[in-house]
Amino acid sequence: MPQEIRTRFAPSPTGLLHIGGLRTALYAFLFARNQGGKFILRIEDTDQKRSVPGALENIIQTLADFSLNADEGPYHQSERLEIYKKYAQELIDKKVAYYCFCTHTRLEELHEQQIAAKVPPKYDKHCLLLSQEDRETLLKSDQARVIRLNIKSGEQIVFTDEVHGEIKFSSDEIDDQVLLKSDGFPTYHLASVVDDHLMNITHIIRGDEWIPSTPKHILLYQAFGWNIPKLAHLPLLLSKTRKKLSKRDGDVSVKEFVEQGYLPDALLNFVAFLGWNPKTEHEIFSLAELVKQFSLDKINKAGAVFDLDKLDWFNGMYIRNLNAKDLLEKCSPYLKKAGINFETLSQEFVEKVLLLEQSRLKKLSEIGERVGYFFREPVYDPKLLIWKNTPKETILKNLNSLAQFLLTVPTENFKVTELEPLVKKFIEDSKMKNGEVLWPLRVALSGLEASPGPFEIMEAFGVLKNGKEIILKRITKATENLF
Ligand code: GLU
Repeated sequence: MPQEIRTRFAPSPTGLLHIGGLRTALYAFLFARNQGGKFILRIEDTDQKRSVPGALENIIQTLADFSLNADEGPYHQSERLEIYKKYAQELIDKKVAYYCFCTHTRLEELHEQQIAAKVPPKYDKHCLLLSQEDRETLLKSDQARVIRLNIKSGEQIVFTDEVHGEIKFSSDEIDDQVLLKSDGFPTYHLASVVDDHLMNITHIIRGDEWIPSTPKHILLYQAFGWNIPKLAHLPLLLSKTRKKLSKRDGDVSVKEFVEQGYLPDALLNFVAFLGWNPKTEHEIFSLAELVKQFSLDKINKAGAVFDLDKLDWFNGMYIRNLNAKDLLEKCSPYLKKAGINFETLSQEFVEKVLLLEQSRLKKLSEIGERVGYFFREPVYDPKLLIWKNTPKETILKNLNSLAQFLLTVPTENFKVTELEPLVKKFIEDSKMKNGEVLWPLRVALSGLEASPGPFEIMEAFGVLKNGKEIILKRITKATENLF
């Protein structure tokens, strides 16, 4: 039977899940699903000082919101401390690791001396060289101790990364890594190697920033005599200027993106392309389609540019694909946030209003600002009501006669297809000019410099029982604001 493919996402609960973390989770998920394998969630919470309250819940909730459901887990490393102790002891027994009793003060002094001497700071193996007797005495004492990996100098550590190809390190660059801390907690290196082995992880997929840790892991696998899983390090996320991604360029939590009105499907589609490319023209992919297309060999080596305009484009595409009901559901929280009281109004009206803006929306959070005038009376800027250099008197006369005309049109005819020809004919028959009627009409209805056309706005109001009344009231109010 072929080996089951198993990947894992192994976040530390040190803050809200960021976009880079979402990408790591997505790729690990996609690869496992594509291969008919399993995706495992493991919470790496052994650094208690760095744990942030609420971070764990946020990670789990975000993965659920994006349908990146794990087949196993979450496993919590903090509940597996005995396991790591046992394996650290195994390395002591094999004499590839050793106890270190050095105090914080000694380590600091050593560090300072090395910096002053311009040599790369590294532990000097002081405790490896203790006599058997001294070690025994210290072990029996209550002196704090850690376990360190004994890294031999002059060795080459080579591994083949699925994305980057062969990567080489010299063991001289690597410090005698602490594996077990004095509080009995493992470090990331020990816990993650032990777990990847015990959880039968076949492919480790994670960000490029973990490449420098990998030689330490390779040495640990070798010390235990375990097989090394395949490794795929994902390209860094870069700003448009090819610098490290900052908060301003979009290195913010996934939660913040969602709150700004990005749809999870759009975000996921965008994130999928941060370092991976199906090498086709096609850009819109559902999660199921991504699963079908995904492969490690299409991951790029070079840093992935995080382009917020592209994200807006994806989001716009997904917003446009929503049906009226879904659009209303997704926009509801943002309408409420904008203080728009839409729940007492007919659903048909609200949906019509939202559909008017659907094709222009980039983020759902823009909706309140765009459609607010449908729900509250506009405040007029008198200058805006004037079309080019038309005298105010002409605008006033035109709006008044248009209002008279609209009174005679039954509300059933307030449809763009019917109303537009009727009004245009009226304008022509009355020898008025289109711009001198339709511009002030549109501003009277919306109060805005830019909005959908007047006929679209009137069609939407036409759905309301008092729609025509609202329209006429606005025209009157606008005329009052002209002078
Ligand atoms: N706990 C590490 C993190 O926070 C996991 C790194 C890895 O995937 O090995 O990203």
